[in-house]
Amino acid sequence: MPHHKDGHRGARPATAVLTRGFDPALSVGSARPAVFRSSTYVFSSPEAAERSFAIATGRVQPEEGEQAELIYSRISHPNAEILEDQIVPLESGAREAAVFNSGMAAIMTAFMTFARPGESIVYTLPAYGGTMNLIQEFLKPFGIQGIPVMAGATAALDEAIRTAKDPAIVFIETPANPTMVMTDLRHASETASKLPRRPLVMVDNTFLGPAFQHPLLLGADLVLYSATKYLSGFSDMIAGVALGRNPELIARMRASRIMFGNILQPDECWMLDGRLPTVPLRMNRQSKNAQKIAEKLVEDGRIQRLHYPTLFSDAEQIKIRLAQCDFPGGIFSMELAGGREAAFAFLRSLRIARNAVSLGGVETLACHPATTTHSSMPEEDKARAGITPGMVRVSVGIEDWHDLLSDFQQALDKI
Ligand SMILES: *Cc1c(COP(=O)(O)O)cnc(C)c1O
Repeated sequence: MPHHKDGHRGARPATAVLTRGFDPALSVGSARPAVFRSSTYVFSSPEAAERSFAIATGRVQPEEGEQAELIYSRISHPNAEILEDQIVPLESGAREAAVFNSGMAAIMTAFMTFARPGESIVYTLPAYGGTMNLIQEFLKPFGIQGIPVMAGATAALDEAIRTAKDPAIVFIETPANPTMVMTDLRHASETASKLPRRPLVMVDNTFLGPAFQHPLLLGADLVLYSATKYLSGFSDMIAGVALGRNPELIARMRASRIMFGNILQPDECWMLDGRLPTVPLRMNRQSKNAQKIAEKLVEDGRIQRLHYPTLFSDAEQIKIRLAQCDFPGGIFSMELAGGREAAFAFLRSLRIARNAVSLGGVETLACHPATTTHSSMPEEDKARAGITPGMVRVSVGIEDWHDLLSDFQQALDKI
């Protein structure tokens, strides 16, 4: 559509994210994209309208280089198109993207587009609470069976993929929230490929992507994000993204999105688009901060265990981390001696970090997963997954790490 423009061919990601997909001439010369809030678009002719509908509904394929006219903003709009073009270079291996009005909307649309009654979804535990509910509570009555496997259990995941009844999707969240346990993406994707009908391998890459983990290069078909987190980065909007190597898969998700009405709105697209060029800068700072702090706190006797990628002790986990993550990321979880009482006292005493769920913002947040984000998980699953009463999850921001470390230390003193 008219807002496309190919930036410089062959440009590297940090350049392409600023040059691709945006033509200033179409935003009255504005150096950054304008916001187009229209719900509907004026056609140049009835014939152009007919052609646009035929293309939008998939009845005809556009000619090489053809730009169909915009129709109606639930179908697509200029800010979604600019954002979708500009986000592609950030995800290594991606060719197309689709944006949604939340991370859950992206995940739900992926499941509803690619799983049918009678088929199954193999998925890793623990997963994001909304994802677990979607599979276990909502999809079950539609005849879609969820098959959970513990994160990092390579052999069990193999077995589940091989023995599932008509697996349509293998859904992996790695590292797992909040335990940071990693699942081997390349291995899972190779196992999926050995089946007569390969299930789609989808990765919720919210914790380490797009800067530090590249699932499409490891054989995954779709990468899904809560853009609410690192991609937007300021804890001030809700958004979701799906990216893939195969444009056909993204086209099918866009067709679902037209029915579901869950495209990201123009204002949010514009905000998120403006945040894209700084994603790698912010994530690098967050990861460096978190690593400094985690590697200091691990020596503190009041912390029983610290879950952070550079502190893994299991040989298999270390191997997976080295194979699939460039940097350890901005999130760690710690288990405090003294259980829930200690965790609550710690959270109450924080002065810089704030007690809130969510993650990925420039400000540091801390929460108690067992009673909040993972409170609806059965006790038995929580115990199995290692979500203990003393666990606190921290999402490290871009503050000075010395101040954050002092804040955590003074809060530990208060327990
Ligand atoms: C927050 C989150 C989601 C859900 O995203 P929303 O934007 O809140 O809908 C999914 N997966 C992970 C890993 C998350 O952290």
